[in-house]
Amino acid sequence: MSLLDLSASQLIQQMEAGELSAVEICEAYCDRIESHDGSIGAFLHADKGGAMQIADSVDHRRELGQPVGPLAGLPIAIKDILCARGGATTCGSKMLEEFIPPYDSTVVAKLKDADAVLVGRTNMDEFAMGGSTENSALGETRNPWDTDRVPGGSSGGSAACVAAKMSLASIGTDTGGSIRQPAAFCGVVGLKPTYGRVSRFGLVAFASSLDQVGPMTRSVEDAALLMDVIAGHDRRDSTSAPVDVPSYSQNVSRPLDGLRLGVVREHFGEGLDSEVDASVREAIKVYEGLGATVTDVSMPHSKYGIATYYIIAPSEASSNLARYDGVHYGRRTDESRMRDLLQEEHALRKKAGESTASIDSPLVRMYRQNRSEAFGPEVKRRIMLGTYALSAGYYDAYYLKALKVRRLIRQDYDEAFQQVDFLVGPVTPTTAFETGKLVNDPLAMYLGDLYTVTSNLAGVAALSLPCGFDQRGLPIGLQLQAKPFDEDRLLRAAHMFQVATDWHQRSPELS
Ligand code: GLN
Repeated sequence: MSLLDLSASQLIQQMEAGELSAVEICEAYCDRIESHDGSIGAFLHADKGGAMQIADSVDHRRELGQPVGPLAGLPIAIKDILCARGGATTCGSKMLEEFIPPYDSTVVAKLKDADAVLVGRTNMDEFAMGGSTENSALGETRNPWDTDRVPGGSSGGSAACVAAKMSLASIGTDTGGSIRQPAAFCGVVGLKPTYGRVSRFGLVAFASSLDQVGPMTRSVEDAALLMDVIAGHDRRDSTSAPVDVPSYSQNVSRPLDGLRLGVVREHFGEGLDSEVDASVREAIKVYEGLGATVTDVSMPHSKYGIATYYIIAPSEASSNLARYDGVHYGRRTDESRMRDLLQEEHALRKKAGESTASIDSPLVRMYRQNRSEAFGPEVKRRIMLGTYALSAGYYDAYYLKALKVRRLIRQDYDEAFQQVDFLVGPVTPTTAFETGKLVNDPLAMYLGDLYTVTSNLAGVAALSLPCGFDQRGLPIGLQLQAKPFDEDRLLRAAHMFQVATDWHQRSPELS
């Protein structure tokens, strides 16, 4: 057994017993990145130097008998959307390629305080918009189980690096499924906490009423340990909730009695791949074997989930992304190019006999040029969709209507959670698809978010965990959704499944 196979608690135990040092762990993971990330592309920047420095300091303090944090010596990768001082935070976009945040996001600060060994920044769909990581402007990420397929997205790099054992765990973000869907595609655990459970301070905003930060790990136990560190109220994020944080890691191995599971009827309809369907049903049987009672529940408004999400998320995005004009934030087209472009336009107009008086002011031209050059096609599509949905005359018909449906979706959840503790079903309609298959068909890509967007719209907690493989050998994910702030029991229920099964112990063979 290699040290790359050890869980967080095993690594901690061995470090405490003096059998393993943080430097040894860090070296093993960094070697793994060096030998395999060339073919996977999970990282935008791996930071061996920085990671080794932290590992060294952890070992040093341990030798001196000084206290170390709860994640001391554990290699963790971070999606490139959480600000961290000192290096670039790119959001997978040319717009922020050179953005070096002057501060740490709360999640990064907490991980640093816990002595986590931060090994690098992971690839993602540009500004977290997408479901395959193909919308990254800065690199391509492949699924470790089949490199001709996508790792999912938008947190594709974070899922791939955990699956490929290039980090023990990672941090992702989830606005409409971006932690859970790549977790399902790569065969790892991903938790989208309740809205407000984890601080968004320093998280580059996509859709502020939906975004949440969460852990991606190989086991539920490891996810619990990360949640201990990152969860909690933050006075710098007014939407973070002042709700006590239990010790997830201490509780996680306590099984739950009398589990009441609800199977969402609407999640087993048209479009669901038969192998995914079969594995999820098998997983539900595992729970029955563990004493769970299973009831059918209906979420009648879930069929409007995609339409509602794809109004609200782009609307918020269009507003959040207005700041990237190359002046306040983001890349600016250089002046000589702006001059050349202006000359070209003058020449064109002259040739056509048109006046040059209507050429936009230099400021407007600069904004337009900056944004046209630095945003990719999906980001532009969302900005246009959102701007349209918010514009006078359409606001009531689209945005306001979507908000009303959002409320109805939340009511479906409230009603369901009166009958059951957890909702269970698939994470995604299919397993990982081939690279290039959906990237030019945005609607088909959006439809893949069918089962995940509603928990963001309602703000509830939701988790994805490995529950099988299809005939091609691609992982299948099981989704468990829980009441707001019920992560403690959600993790316990998920852990029970991992005790009873070994899907999470399989790992891809890398060439
Ligand atoms: N795939 C969804 C989208 O493209 C979800 C993205 C996310 O959760 N960040 O918007």
